[in-house]
Amino acid sequence: MKEKGNISINTENIFPIIKKFLYSDQDIFLRELVSNAVDATQKIKSLSQMGELKEEIGDLRIEVILDKKKKTITISDKGIGMSAEEIKKYINQIAFSGATEFIEKYKEKGDSQQIIGHFGLGFYSAFMVSSYVEIKSKSYIKKNKAAYWKCDGNTEFEIKESKKKDRGTEVILHINDDSKEFLEEAKINEILGRYCKFLPVEIKFGQKEESVEDGKDKEGKPKHKTVKTDNIVNNPNPIWNKSPKDLKDDDYKAFYKELYPFSEEPLFWIHLNVDYPFNLTGILYFPKIKNDFEVQKNKIQLYSRQVFITDEVKDVVPEFLMLLHGIIDSPDIPLNVSRSYLQSDGNVKKINTYITKKVADKLNELFKDDRKEFENKWKDINLFVKYGMISEEKFYEKVESLALFESVDGKMRTTEEYKKHIGKTQKDKDKNHIILYTSDINKQDSFIQDAKNRNHDVVIFNNVIDSHYINHLEQKLDKVQIKRVDSDILDKLIDKGDKKETVISDKDKEKLKTIFDKIINNQSTVVTIEALSPKDNPVTITLPEFFRRMQDMAKTSGGGNPMMMGGPGEMIAVSINGNHKTIEKILKAKTSKTKEKMASQLYDLALLSQNMLTGSELTSFVKRSLDILAK
Ligand code: ADP
Repeated sequence: MKEKGNISINTENIFPIIKKFLYSDQDIFLRELVSNAVDATQKIKSLSQMGELKEEIGDLRIEVILDKKKKTITISDKGIGMSAEEIKKYINQIAFSGATEFIEKYKEKGDSQQIIGHFGLGFYSAFMVSSYVEIKSKSYIKKNKAAYWKCDGNTEFEIKESKKKDRGTEVILHINDDSKEFLEEAKINEILGRYCKFLPVEIKFGQKEESVEDGKDKEGKPKHKTVKTDNIVNNPNPIWNKSPKDLKDDDYKAFYKELYPFSEEPLFWIHLNVDYPFNLTGILYFPKIKNDFEVQKNKIQLYSRQVFITDEVKDVVPEFLMLLHGIIDSPDIPLNVSRSYLQSDGNVKKINTYITKKVADKLNELFKDDRKEFENKWKDINLFVKYGMISEEKFYEKVESLALFESVDGKMRTTEEYKKHIGKTQKDKDKNHIILYTSDINKQDSFIQDAKNRNHDVVIFNNVIDSHYINHLEQKLDKVQIKRVDSDILDKLIDKGDKKETVISDKDKEKLKTIFDKIINNQSTVVTIEALSPKDNPVTITLPEFFRRMQDMAKTSGGGNPMMMGGPGEMIAVSINGNHKTIEKILKAKTSKTKEKMASQLYDLALLSQNMLTGSELTSFVKRSLDILAK
């Protein structure tokens, strides 16, 4: 009855190669074996449904049993089972040659690590952690005898009849000394939790404990009991496979909690469901975005028919949506290919487009259905909406009408609404709409107040992505310029074309410039004498938009990631109001010492109003002020 044989494969001893390749991702052996058990179970279910099965189908639970003493992990199913012939065909030939082919194909490629991690080697991966593997199987076809198979992963195997009575397959892994970690309950729990959490058949995980006796078997030997019999590790009916009409908000929220127990409630979600031209289901959640969004990235999990594949979905989900959370389940994403191929894959491209469209549709729906609620959520979602608008033209087109401007008074308006709101007041002589913005309402308060005094509106752009977003908007919007409120004096920001005359002469202008240049004494500061209203401040310090943007862009262009923005630049412009009384006074002062003192005082006040006066400069300002008061 007992048969010994040689497995015919082209490469002798592929085992060491596989072991080396898979070293970092050994965990997948359990996913592969449990997936096989699931497949066999699904097959028996189908047969039963088609009336091909004579007997009751019975309990179909898959069991994973850890036996520390015997150093084994057993995966048993009540699926279709295999006869000796089938084991020879499917395991000896298909599984082994599959593994060989796999290695042949990928051993040259640089990214084999990643391919293997996603793809897996099927049954053969059992040998990554086992010194030898046994199979006991009984086919659902009654006349086929039960079979026993044993193999150490090399080319020799042993096959004989087995006493196994009930239908199904048991795979017994004898864990090798290098893989002892897999004999820990916690480790197995962790792997099952990661890879098998949503497999469509119930999976029970138990540990054999030698101490617990559970009656005697037929030969009178004590039987051992599996403890924690109710430890079902998976949820076989995850909600992404259900119909949205059967689900309530609470179901989605509960599922989110199940996926990310420590996260705050999501803002909203999208249920994905498409079966043509590709198959994809899933739920994408919009989280509350925290400042530290790096930790929030890579939270989307990719599944293939409820089998967890990876949480690196970079190539499947558009970059700007990487902050979303949730699940994508698609059997149509090719996993046995390299990353560069994946990016050019037709299905992956379509999936990308589909997800982008779905997200845009959802945003439009929220916007139309409940504007107030949408505005509340804007704070949390504007970052990736803007990122999406910058990076995907199609997305821009779909959401441009709902992107909001938030004013310092808290009002939110779409671009069209905003243009109407600022109307003529903020139109310059060339009919450009000038949008004024602040990046810091506290630091730029004096400028904001000046703008308000002239009935101008100021919007808030204080997001890490905003300097890129502003650039993008300016390219997109016709006759719109977006300027930071402190980047120039208001008359220049919104140039109406009506020129004021300076009361002082050109010669006096020169004198003033010399005085201020001397006291400021800084190369990155530019002093100009302007003809402003006598009511405007005598000295105004601004951060020219152009220079600041250049610096902002330079900071981010290295990494190329607009989510890594820096702060404002250092270029400073100083505008002296030639029409201001105090400036005239400087010119009239008797000694150059007094002139400089007055200029310094005005300059420092300008710095102070912007919170820019610090250190020794602040100290000397205080001292000078006290001196002046004393006189
Ligand atoms: P794959 O699952 O990708 O076909 P595997 O190497 O994992 O490759 O398995 C090879 C074949 O062995 C399977 O296609 C299946 O026919 C058979 N097989 C593996 N495990 C089982 C099982 N638990 N029950 C029944 N058949 C199995």
